[in-house]
Amino acid sequence: MARRLFDKLARESADPPGVTRKSYGEGERMAHALMIEATAGFGVEVAHDAAGNLFITLPGEDRSGQILVASHIDTVSHGGNYDGAAGVVAGVAAQAIFHAAGRKPPFDLTVLVMRAEESCWFPYSYLGSKSALGILDPSVVDSLKRSDTGKTLAEHMRDEGFDPEAVKRGASLIDRKRVVAYFEPHIEQAPVLVNAGIPLGVVTGIRGSFRYRNATCVGAYAHSGAMPREYRRDAAAATGEFVVRMDELWEDFLARGRDLTVTFGELMTDPQQHGFSKVAGEMHICLDVRSQDQAVLDEVRTLIDPMVNEIGERRNVRFELGLLTGSSPAVMSGPLQEMLIAAAETTTTSYRVMASGAGHDAATFTQVGIPTAMLFIRNENGSHNPDEAMDMSDFDHALTVLAETLAAPVDRWRLVRG
Ligand SMILES: [Zn+2]
Repeated sequence: MARRLFDKLARESADPPGVTRKSYGEGERMAHALMIEATAGFGVEVAHDAAGNLFITLPGEDRSGQILVASHIDTVSHGGNYDGAAGVVAGVAAQAIFHAAGRKPPFDLTVLVMRAEESCWFPYSYLGSKSALGILDPSVVDSLKRSDTGKTLAEHMRDEGFDPEAVKRGASLIDRKRVVAYFEPHIEQAPVLVNAGIPLGVVTGIRGSFRYRNATCVGAYAHSGAMPREYRRDAAAATGEFVVRMDELWEDFLARGRDLTVTFGELMTDPQQHGFSKVAGEMHICLDVRSQDQAVLDEVRTLIDPMVNEIGERRNVRFELGLLTGSSPAVMSGPLQEMLIAAAETTTTSYRVMASGAGHDAATFTQVGIPTAMLFIRNENGSHNPDEAMDMSDFDHALTVLAETLAAPVDRWRLVRG
């Protein structure tokens, strides 16, 4: 069943090279319809919320609780077929397993297909999960515009038959007290599992971040041959030192077993003023720091000011870090991680316990206090490109572990709520 769904998704959203399923576009609409069609014979209940998030519910033994298996099904332009879709298809395939066995899941088992996760269409994080939980900032409904059409989110919602006014009021089909657990299976977007030769990852948390997107180092332009070293105010050399010092700091944190990533994504001299024979008078700097651990983020942040001040003073330049933005780390539920690990061990599936570097809708569910877990599936060549390559046998491993977890008796789930 899963293979047929992946093939059909790929065929019907083909946009060579790769696939395109725009948020609130034709491809996303097709994918939602396909999931409804695939589950039609299972005795499921189908509902859409005001934002168009889709809920496909297989009634459980105990209807007072609900387990969500969720992901998105939109893609970037010319993206791969599995980012997002793998989680949705895993949910549908898990429902198929219960149906085929003539068994009810312990609680209502809902596949939640969320809208608009890929922020290339609407420049906003977690639109689908925030609207599903009724916590989307109402002002963005009329202000966000889709990058290709220029039409607002409200207009796109209306075009698809949904109700932006209700979204603004915080309408939601999710009763948070009823949700026992949220699972998001997802392809891994880094090569950790591929390099380790392991099919599955049990995710401990989603890294939070702080960013200086618009920092500068200001020195003074000067003649490269004439200006002696001691009089230089070289922004390029000072920035280079900053980069190396941050890289050493990163290494040091890793050596102490602390989770951290440090990335300078943009480093530029000013093309209006720079020149082959000029000392650089200014550098644009973009710094992104991530960790699963808020304490690490706080510690690194407090180390940066003295570091750039010291470099600046010695090299006679000035660092201006500018606006600080970021997000908090999302810690996955310990009991749910244990259930996934127990299921992997019961089914002799090898797994690795690991952090997620990229953001996922799961972070929004963690934020509102819902026990959340993610299962990563080995995938080659990263994501957001047509070369994403998830092996169907790895998907089957993930499905086996997910289905085993979902079948755990009601008593086991009581531990999750703590
Ligand atoms: Zn994704």
